[in-house]
Formats: sequence, C-alpha cells, structure tokens
Amino acid sequence: MYRKFTAEFVFNGHKILPGTPVVVTDSAGTIIDVVEGQDAGDGIEVFQGMLTPGFVNAHCHLELSHLKGMIPANTGLVSFVQQVMSNRACSAEQKQEAMMTADAAMYAAGIVAVGDICNTADSITVKNQSKIHWHNFVEVSGFVDAKAQQRLDEMKKVYDQFQVANPGKGNTTFSPHAPYSVSKTLFQLLNDATAGQLITIHNQECAAENHLYQQKTGDFLSLYKNFGIDISVFEPTGKTSFQSWLPMFSGAQSILAVHNTFIDIEDLTFFKNLSKPVEVYYCICINANKHIEQITPPLELMMKHNCNMVIGTDSLASNYQLDILEEIKAIQQETNLPLTELLQWATLNGARALQMEDKIGSFEKGKKPGIVLIEELTGLQAGPQSFSRRIL
Ligand SMILES: [Zn+2]
Repeated sequence: MYRKFTAEFVFNGHKILPGTPVVVTDSAGTIIDVVEGQDAGDGIEVFQGMLTPGFVNAHCHLELSHLKGMIPANTGLVSFVQQVMSNRACSAEQKQEAMMTADAAMYAAGIVAVGDICNTADSITVKNQSKIHWHNFVEVSGFVDAKAQQRLDEMKKVYDQFQVANPGKGNTTFSPHAPYSVSKTLFQLLNDATAGQLITIHNQECAAENHLYQQKTGDFLSLYKNFGIDISVFEPTGKTSFQSWLPMFSGAQSILAVHNTFIDIEDLTFFKNLSKPVEVYYCICINANKHIEQITPPLELMMKHNCNMVIGTDSLASNYQLDILEEIKAIQQETNLPLTELLQWATLNGARALQMEDKIGSFEKGKKPGIVLIEELTGLQAGPQSFSRRIL
C-alpha cells in the first residue's frame, strides 16, 4: 500500500523541489520515490503549506523537562547553572510524566531524532517507548583534577544502563559537559574513551568561559567558590576555551559543539588551520541563549566560514518549548537567512551530525525520514503564526 503526499512547497532536505513533486512512501513511511504529479496516479494527499523531512533536535536534556518554567530568564549562565543544580530534585513520577509529555510534544511537532544529554538513567523508560530516534550523550563533568577517574567511573554506571537498555535503538557515547566543568585529566580520559565516536560539548555559552581559560578570571571563579571546588591546579592556557579544549580530542572524534555564543573569527580561523582536520558540527540553541544570556551566536560569521550548522532546543529549563520550528523562527528574527537554509540545518545537517543520515534527514529512496507539514507560512518564510506537525 503506497501513500502519496504533496503540498504547495516540498523541501526535500536540500532545496525546494520545482514542478509538482509528490512524495511516495510505503505504508511504513519508507520513501519509495519522489515523482511529478502527472506520474503519481490517484490517491494523492494534498496539503496547504510546505512538506519537509522530519526535524533533528541536535541538543536537548529530556531529563530536565520537569524544570519547565522554574528557572527565571535573564540570569546569566553562571547563576543558571547553580539554579539547575539546586532545583534538579523532584519526585520520580513527576520527572517521568514531564519527560513523557515532552517526548510526545516533540514527536507531534515533527522531531524525528534527538541528541540528548544524560546525567542519569532517568530517561531510559520514556525512550524505550518513544517513536523518536535518540543518540544518548552520557555527560561527564568534574573540575577537580584528582577526581577525574572517579567521575568517569561513576558515569560508566549510567553508560552501562543505556548500553543494556539501548533505548531508541540509538547510540550511547560519553561526552564532556563543558570546558569550565571538565578538568584536564578528565578531558584526557574522555579522549581515550571516545576514540572514533560522536561526542558533544557545551561550547562558549558565555564570555566567562573564555576569561577562565585566557586569564583564570571571571564569573566561574565565584561558582567554584560557592561549590567548594578547589581550582588551584588549573592553569590558564592564554587561549579561548574553544582553542583550549578542541586540541585535547585527538582520537578522530566527530564533535557536536553546542551554543557557540561567544565563538569568534580567531576561533574559526584556528579551526580552519588545524593541521589534522576534525569534524565539528555547530549547534545553535537560540531561544536558550536568549533566555539565559540575551545574546545570540555570530551566525553570519559562522556561515561565512562554512560551519556545519545544526539546531537544538536545549532543555525546558531554558526554553518554553522543544520545537525546532520555533528555533527557526527565532533565528529568522535575527538574520536574513532563508527558510530553506535553516530547514537544511534542521533536517539533513542534523541527521549527518547524529550519524543517522542513512535513515533520516531527506526525502531519498530507502530512508524513513518522517513527513512534516509547516502551515501558515508567510510567503517562503516562517511567520509568527507558522507551526509544524507530523503527518507521517
Ligand atoms: Zn545544554
């Protein structure tokens, strides 16, 4: 049994297709072909708006879903991190309920795959029942260098639970939390533990992260003091955080760098001039940046440097919804980038970043990318009323 779909516009993961394209799938949603309307026969389902392959949310923290609306906006990252750490506790039932609601909302709005940060095994049950693909990044942090091995061993227990459960049938890999929360020895242990794998890291989410590495100054010193973390052995590198941590990964990892709010031209030039090329994808979580720091990443600069761009929602602690089209709308407000460019970030680029390109990301034969309808477009841009929903 075939199904056939068309709309005013059909975006296939690369571009808007000319003519009258019809996407043909089998009953399970696998793409059979994309053909011209005159060759499609009857039984075509016709929609108003734009069809696109399912979205990839490259950065989320499903397990923080119960923090929705609990952390005030505009506090800055250092205060935000402290509030997340002290507000994490809540009943197991409430957590499960919040994660189930968030999973269902993501699916309904067209998200087919998520790169998800895991500090605990809390999300396994929801992911086992989810219709979304998951890559689980088991996050490791610890700025006290002497405890590096102990921190990795602790997270190995979480990692093993994900390996056994294999929720979402996706991969599970270790990942460093952020440059300000991972010590030098822990970076080295993670480099050894993740050779050849996909990892992620929160990168340059605030200016203080650069100040820490450049001069051992700035807001993070007070965070360490508040948590009683002794950083006397930390030595500044004199370089930005990006230029300090990136060379620590020498094992052919593919790296998903998230936020990049304070990345600059020197960082991007440094990357371009690396003697040994590294695969880096840059994830933008613009609504979270606005929520926490009221600042947006240098998108046009990153485009000029041909960065591989993808989109994430971050968590409900720092966002009002986990909705990729809402992220696209927020990016459109800051830039003149065309919708098709941003849709490619959200579909094909995201699939490549999560190494799921063989299954999702575009309307190509044999893939099962999901079909999403964007309604209430303003011409070829997403306007304030636009919304997305999964139709297959
Ligand atoms: Zn995050």
